[in-house]
Order: sequence, then C-alpha cells, then structure tokens
Amino acid sequence: MKSFRKELWFQTSSRRAFINITSQVEKAIRESGIKEGLVLVNAMHITASVFINDQETGLHQDYEKWLEQLAPHAPISQYRHNDTGEDNADAHMKRQIMGREVVVALTKGRLDFGTWEQIFYGEFDGKRKKRVLIKIIGE
Ligand code: ZN
Repeated sequence: MKSFRKELWFQTSSRRAFINITSQVEKAIRESGIKEGLVLVNAMHITASVFINDQETGLHQDYEKWLEQLAPHAPISQYRHNDTGEDNADAHMKRQIMGREVVVALTKGRLDFGTWEQIFYGEFDGKRKKRVLIKIIGE
C-alpha cells in the first residue's frame, strides 16, 4: 500500500468564506500516483471545516445565513468561550456543524463522486494562515 500526504494553506481576506478545493485535491491525487484507495481531506483548525456539497452560490449564501442564525457572531459576550479574550466562539460552533473532514473513494485515479459533489473549505474565523490536510492511501 502506498500513502501520500500534502498540506494546503489558506488565508482568506474575509472572516468567513467557502472555497472550492476540488481541483487542488485532484492535483494531489495526480501527484500521489495512487489510482485505487481512499482520500481523506480535513481542516487542521477547530474554526474551519471541510465538507462536500454543491458549487452553487445561492446555497452558499443560504449556509451563511443559516449558520449565522444558529450561532450569531455578535454579541460576542453571549458565549462563555469568549470570556477567555477570544471572539470566535461562533466559529467553533459553525465548524462543528459543517464538519471536520471528508473521505472520498478513489477509483481509477479519480474522485468517485455523486453527480454534483464538490469539496469545500469552510472558513469561519479567517484573515490568518490555516491548513488543510490531504492524506491518500491505496495502490
Ligand atoms: Zn476559540
């Protein structure tokens, strides 16, 4: 069995963002030379997510609105986590519901996706450097 590891780095200009990282994952697959196996992609920070869904801007606006209703950023004093001097309790909660990682089957050198599936990085406390891990195992 072969294995391959790669980190992707992000620094968003806004506090929150959704970034389609599918092409970067496909590039890592080509670099790995692995054709059959599993691809793990995970956020390496507890205020960011990796998830799979549709590349559709209306949906991303819906996520933004829905997440802000579930865990509003302000007032920051509503969260005990922010008593530590941080202001990102909402980002921890948004990360929790959008998930840490995805695992995708690798078949004949390609992501074995459903019709509309794409991989996204979800940033909830940006404007600083953050990492995503890609790990590929197989043959
Ligand atoms: Zn925090």
